[in-house]
Amino acid sequence: MEHNDIVQLKETGCRKIDAHMTDLESLSRKVMDALTQCTIFNVQQIHANPELAYEEHNTSNLLSDFLQSHGFQVERQYCGLKTAFRATAGRGPPTIAVMSEMDALPEVGHACGHNLIAVAGVATGLGVKAILEESGHSGTIVVLGTPAEEIGGGKCDLIRAGAFKDIDAGMMVHPGNNSLAHYTSLAVTEIHVTFHGKSAHAAASPWEGVNALDAVILSFNAVGLLRQQIRPTDRIHGIITHGGHRPNVIPDRASASFFVRSPSGSGVLELADRVRDCFEGAARATGCSLEISGGMEYREMNSSRLMAELYTKNLHCLGLNLDPVEEQLKRRGGSTDFGNVSHVIPCIHPRYAICDDTNIHSKEFASQATTDRAHAETFRAAKGLVMTAADVMLIPGILREIGDEFSQGEGKPLPAIPDPHVQP
Ligand SMILES: [Zn+2]
Ligand SMILES: [Zn+2]
Repeated sequence: MEHNDIVQLKETGCRKIDAHMTDLESLSRKVMDALTQCTIFNVQQIHANPELAYEEHNTSNLLSDFLQSHGFQVERQYCGLKTAFRATAGRGPPTIAVMSEMDALPEVGHACGHNLIAVAGVATGLGVKAILEESGHSGTIVVLGTPAEEIGGGKCDLIRAGAFKDIDAGMMVHPGNNSLAHYTSLAVTEIHVTFHGKSAHAAASPWEGVNALDAVILSFNAVGLLRQQIRPTDRIHGIITHGGHRPNVIPDRASASFFVRSPSGSGVLELADRVRDCFEGAARATGCSLEISGGMEYREMNSSRLMAELYTKNLHCLGLNLDPVEEQLKRRGGSTDFGNVSHVIPCIHPRYAICDDTNIHSKEFASQATTDRAHAETFRAAKGLVMTAADVMLIPGILREIGDEFSQGEGKPLPAIPDPHVQP
């Protein structure tokens, strides 16, 4: 297809988002309201927040209904996941999938801005569908509702279920306090440790007890010292998930959860071994036994350089100039299950600023995720994805180039953590 025709079709896609801006903003506010209502309801009734990971029922229904009303074929409970959905429009290859993340965080709500990601995915779907209809070109756009990014890894479940087998390229955007196209993230693994000791009266006969909480505290101290000898790019952080019941009972069970992060999957495995050594040392010192189990495993983001370059050019047309690539690569994010997808198909995960200095995962960021600026920037980022999807679908030979670049990359699966249950 000629360059000028592609430019015109990109305008068609962007105009579609403009035409539905009010509806989309209202959808975003409904997602936020759904969360607020659930929070109030549950605080009063069942003390749980159903819009957390794997429980995004209201959000999933809102997005599915919206897409269905705009002519998408929607499969709910996709791949057996209650809150996942797949909304499809168009026909034939190539197939591009855009992710709508949906989950909130405990206590701080949409402090990662997934309400905006949800709507960005829907907006992108509408824009690309309009382009396919206008051009009559072969191509399929899929909006995937992906549960549980914050914990659990809904996209890992979807990969295992084969959800990406017929997808040629994947994309999503994430809000933050700066904008970039070449996104990198840390690989992460989750380690749960439980120490078993022996309870005793803490005053009458403490010498009879084996204090499991001591083992947890020793673990934190050992990990704290270990941090001096790890690379500045690595991260280890944890919480105590159980520390006993009463001060006058020596805890016979105590547990903690840690995230271990590094720029590569192999780095995570090496570091996780050293963290496990800390736990084993703590068990030995206190006389406890221990159980170690794994949890989510997210790979580092393997961004498609070619797709990120296309997105950068498109954002320039939309009035935003991004920093040089070297500067962007210095701003590594946290971790995401989209990293795993990026090792299965070529992907981009651009970040876009909705505020100047507020950090994600804070209550303040949850407030920023509802502003007019946040919505305006979400629609600009979605237009960037629409235009990039148009490039990938319509520029002759580009998808093959993207595929070649991907197949020359690493693309290896993160090996499972060996020996997940250690009993000394
Ligand atoms: Zn997050
Ligand atoms: Zn997030």
